[in-house]
Amino acid sequence: MTDLHRLSIREMTEGLASAQFSSREITEHYLKRIEKIDAQVKSYVTVTPEQALAEADAADALLKAGGANVLTGVPLAHKDIFCTQGVKTTAGSKILDNFISPYDATVVAKAKAAGLVTLGKVNMDEFAMGSTSESSYFGATANPWALDHVPGGSSGGSAAAVAADLAPFATGTDTGGSIRQPASFCGLTGLKPTYGRVSRFGIIAYASSLDQAGPMARSAEDCAYLMNAMAGHDAKDSTSVNKDVDNYVANLNGTSVKGLRIGIPKQYFNVAGLDADVKARVEESLKKLEDMGAILVEIDLNMTESYVPTYYLIAPAEASSNLSRYDGVRYGYRCENPVDLMDLYKRSRSEGFGPEVQRRILIGTYALSAGYYDAYYVKAQKVRRLIQQDFLKAFEAVDVIAAPSAPTTAYKIGANLSPTEMYLGDIYTLAVNLAGLPAINAPVGFDKDNLPVGLQLIGNYWSESQLLSVVHQYQQTTDWHTKRAAIAEENA
Ligand code: GLN
Repeated sequence: MTDLHRLSIREMTEGLASAQFSSREITEHYLKRIEKIDAQVKSYVTVTPEQALAEADAADALLKAGGANVLTGVPLAHKDIFCTQGVKTTAGSKILDNFISPYDATVVAKAKAAGLVTLGKVNMDEFAMGSTSESSYFGATANPWALDHVPGGSSGGSAAAVAADLAPFATGTDTGGSIRQPASFCGLTGLKPTYGRVSRFGIIAYASSLDQAGPMARSAEDCAYLMNAMAGHDAKDSTSVNKDVDNYVANLNGTSVKGLRIGIPKQYFNVAGLDADVKARVEESLKKLEDMGAILVEIDLNMTESYVPTYYLIAPAEASSNLSRYDGVRYGYRCENPVDLMDLYKRSRSEGFGPEVQRRILIGTYALSAGYYDAYYVKAQKVRRLIQQDFLKAFEAVDVIAAPSAPTTAYKIGANLSPTEMYLGDIYTLAVNLAGLPAINAPVGFDKDNLPVGLQLIGNYWSESQLLSVVHQYQQTTDWHTKRAAIAEENA
């Protein structure tokens, strides 16, 4: 079969279970595509063909002998922020370019236990700080829809790999939008779960109170399959919550769109910089949901103006603390010929971290310093609570909240946005992380340049099933999620 990469995850699991094809065939098919096409997309930092084929053979043996799981033999790619035992784990940074993880992140271990086959590790902004994937030490990744555009970030490699059919689905992480925004830029479905739903153990930390991992795929259905493998309590992550996990696949039709109250925040649709095409496509998708029976309700989210400043204090503050462990002593990059210990610290960190990471360490350290802690960090924490309360109040009147995922479509590679311009592009995603809520991006059309536009639906705590179900039903009556970039149509 030459078109194995066109199958949905459900079709793949059915084909494997009925021996229409083997895991080795699918895995080889994707490895061939990566070899042929990824030179243009540059989504992978590390491809692990031998390991993948060994895992595929083990999956095939299990499929034959009985005892296979639903996902046994299906391939995936991991964002290079998840620790993978025996395989390089870089977080897109020079400082970890030589780091081979001695253990698996819980998400990686769960994926293996579910029988998934790892194709390799995909590119990202350095330490997940960014919105374009250009800050990676390994260079920019291309957007499969227009190779001179960025795939978004920080999970840009995950998004590009899936959009170019170089992996059927991929893991991502989202601290301030890093699953939803690249999914939006690349025409994919991506779910950021409730904080605590997926274990953070073995995920290289950026801002620990905001970081959360989730699935990126073509459809809500595909996301549900991966979410089933990723979610769950983990004693190794004290912020992971001990709460029953839904069967996201079984629940795909569990929420009725009929009567669903969708909140439309007034403030969100008057943001300066909201692109006219993005606004139009999002409004069309809401109209479609209304035709399906949803009730659109205008709501207020009064804290909108505080999202960007609050996040860009709290996230760098946590990052400055998390990244203090990269000292050139224990692991990672070490400068050459240090004259003394201070020189070793200084030069290892100056040479090992890129400019955006250094900027955030400086901002964070400043915000946490003795004289400014109350004025900046403590104040930001108070505003963070107000942002959460704003959402909780809104959820008294509505079931979900709709927004664009990003004010624009994908930027050009090298557009060289100033830091503040780039940070403002996160306006629609940051608050979800500050409040710890789940949210999903769904593709809803294209702009005048044929670049994908995404709709974001934000849910109340633990409403992952509801979000996946609403998007699934939208995708049953629309075909935006089935559109493929020209490069994905190329055969290997
Ligand atoms: N773009 C945001 C940032 O630069 C979000 C990144 C993320 O979610 N990891 O911090």
